[in-house]
Amino acid sequence: MKIENLIRDNIKRLKPYTCARDSYSEGVLLDANENTLGSTFEYYNLELNRYPDPLQINMRRKLSALINIPIENLVFGVGSDELIDLIIRIFCNPGIDNTVIVQPTYGMYHVCCDINNVEVREAFLSDQFEIEVDSIMNKVGENTKIVFLCSPNNPTGNTLSSKSILELCEKTNAIIVVDEAYIDFDEENSVISEILNQRNLIVLRTFSKAWGLAAIRCGYCAADKEVINTIIKVKAPYTINKLTEKAVVESINNFRTKEKFVDEIITQREFVFKKLNELEKVQKVFKSDSNFILFKCKNASEVHRTLAERGVVIRDRSSQEKLENCLRVSIGTEIENRIMLSELEKVL
Ligand SMILES: *Cc1c(COP(=O)(O)O)cnc(C)c1O
Repeated sequence: MKIENLIRDNIKRLKPYTCARDSYSEGVLLDANENTLGSTFEYYNLELNRYPDPLQINMRRKLSALINIPIENLVFGVGSDELIDLIIRIFCNPGIDNTVIVQPTYGMYHVCCDINNVEVREAFLSDQFEIEVDSIMNKVGENTKIVFLCSPNNPTGNTLSSKSILELCEKTNAIIVVDEAYIDFDEENSVISEILNQRNLIVLRTFSKAWGLAAIRCGYCAADKEVINTIIKVKAPYTINKLTEKAVVESINNFRTKEKFVDEIITQREFVFKKLNELEKVQKVFKSDSNFILFKCKNASEVHRTLAERGVVIRDRSSQEKLENCLRVSIGTEIENRIMLSELEKVL
């Protein structure tokens, strides 16, 4: 398959913006209208008066070594959210092309398609929240450019079958986006290394969850070189700032801390899972491969509201299709989890 055939014509023709620093990066730098006297806020020796590297070379090299994916197959964005938007803009002609979203899932894919005036077709996970390749294929048409999958899926919590994801890559000519925001909690089931074999596979990840860096707004994309180069061509050049770069580089140096967080959260998740199952009024607790748990109880919206009035805030997902009376709770510290469980028991 040819990625080029999927890219919008105007994007193929696009001549990218050229940054001042593209041609020369050393010497007396008076080419970018920066304040060369200094900056009003200093942090390490970051030279915050100078524009950051639009090609993100440092960070990409660092990440490449961590996850063992070549640097030319990686690019960072301002959260996965920026990357989702870029991917839609690169492939989908507004008012003409469409995407397939496999529900129930993360709401951002749909919102982003709506903003870009791109039609959304909805497919559904099975009642066990597994992907069903045939039912997705039934929605894929000639103008379907992207299929969005989320694994582990938010808000159901389960990892999708890698085998089915790869089958879908083989069977369609569309781009298959797999959002792995929660994959740190189930790393062995990642499909990221498959981007080297499947040209239409794009994997998204983020520093917002396991890494504990939601505030720095940084996510990344692993994909075919041509996809990565097109993202670099289309994105605004300086969206990854030097403070974020510093935070990412330092936290990759600290990757063991992330691993400890993951271990602790998984231990806590198993505790919460067991305790929720013991609550008589909880009708179903779904198995989770992530840092949250979906469960079902009577009058979920009312339970959600009463809990919030008592100071424990979880997420009401009961209005989503297939999620009737379902609530989603993030795994917190041991103390937070105990408070949540005891308040929930009282409210129920
Ligand atoms: C939280 C979350 C993200 C994170 O997005 P960022 O913009 O990187 O913070 C992405 N995808 C899913 C499914 C999420 O739940």
